[in-house]
Amino acid sequence: MRLTDLNSGRDIGANSLLLEFGGHRMVVDCGMHPKHVGKSALPRLDLVAGKVDSIVLTHCHLDHLGSLPLLVRGNPRARVLTSAANTLFVQRLLRNSLSVMGRQKEEQGIAELPLYTHGDIERVEAALSAVPLDNPRRVGSGADEVELRFHRAGHVAGAVGFSATHQGRRVFVTGDVHFSPQRTIPGAEFPRTPADILVMECTRGATTTIPDASRGSEERRLLRAINRVVDGGGSVLIPAFAFGRMQELLVFLGEAADRGELADCPIFCSGLGLDLCDYLSEASRRTRQLAFDRRILDDLGIIALRKQYTDPGRKPREAGIYLLSSGMLVEKTPAWRLAANLLDHRDCAVFFVGYCDPDTPGGQLIGTPPDGEFEFKGLDHVARVRCEVERFHLSGHADREELVAFAKDVGPRDIVLTHGDPPARDWMRQALAEALPGTRVHDPVPGKPIDL
Ligand SMILES: [Zn+2]
Ligand SMILES: [Zn+2]
Repeated sequence: MRLTDLNSGRDIGANSLLLEFGGHRMVVDCGMHPKHVGKSALPRLDLVAGKVDSIVLTHCHLDHLGSLPLLVRGNPRARVLTSAANTLFVQRLLRNSLSVMGRQKEEQGIAELPLYTHGDIERVEAALSAVPLDNPRRVGSGADEVELRFHRAGHVAGAVGFSATHQGRRVFVTGDVHFSPQRTIPGAEFPRTPADILVMECTRGATTTIPDASRGSEERRLLRAINRVVDGGGSVLIPAFAFGRMQELLVFLGEAADRGELADCPIFCSGLGLDLCDYLSEASRRTRQLAFDRRILDDLGIIALRKQYTDPGRKPREAGIYLLSSGMLVEKTPAWRLAANLLDHRDCAVFFVGYCDPDTPGGQLIGTPPDGEFEFKGLDHVARVRCEVERFHLSGHADREELVAFAKDVGPRDIVLTHGDPPARDWMRQALAEALPGTRVHDPVPGKPIDL
């Protein structure tokens, strides 16, 4: 097999891989880089234009899905194979991405935006093909035939990893993976059987696992912290990805409220996250690949946040819990805008519950010392960080030790690292060299094929 990383850099960006099985060319995921705008956010589609036979979509985060309309436009005969749940999310998330690009074009005057049209999204929708979990699905024919098998990957609703067997050799691709169960989805159910090649994510390779920070104790710590701030009359901002993470937190808050353990206060959510509640609710009814019921919104009395913010520096009109996207506090998102109302106030708090890239405003806020300055570009406001800023370890990605243990169970001859920043890849390469001395570990150079 020949593998080419189509991501434009060695990071968690525009995730995309080309796998060549004899003459069959398969592209796995086609993301858009969250930190770049315009064509520089795309993976290396120039390397595969018109040459792709099949496409696998592991899950619907935009760093895996965001550029798919362009891949499908350039390869109109390729089917997009994915889980049944994912087929129900693709269109809604791409439409949101398209409207974000429309806004960026207007605000930043970037002529090349948007990079695709509603027509392109329709073509993706028509190319989708749901593959049942744990079932074989053949693509290609003759000597090029490849047998695929999808398995639950935990991580986020609909996410799958998969094995691909070609001429008796088996490659396993983890995609983004989380091994333990969350509230709306079970943990990954990957077979721990031998594979020749393992393609593995390593998001948390540079994150020290805190042994006693089990999910349960982190959740209790989060709940205590929320109650303390709310009881003191302040507001809590929880920046969360609209897709998956927001619904997880809603179920978490709902369960706490049912036990009588959540302080009584209004809870606000932002538009896309609320909209996606309908999609996750529908997907759990139709596929049973997740468990989420939108009635939780009524049970918690969720209020849709109107975009009539108070002036930066002043507290919001109503104190409460603000569960808003984006998870990394990206500029101009509801979470970023609300942060401009909380940071200056000692009785308020920002609680992060997921990964924050150091280059995003969320990462920068985490790195700002107490009473340090934090600039809101475009709002003409420089805040003094007087509020509490805290991180809770509720990641949707596997701990690094869990990934090494999985690699040991699979015992591959070759491991290819993906989806990690350079320090994460470095740790993983060393840990794998110690755990599996006979295995070759590859950290692919973007655009350069590796023969395996
Ligand atoms: Zn993901
Ligand atoms: Zn990802």
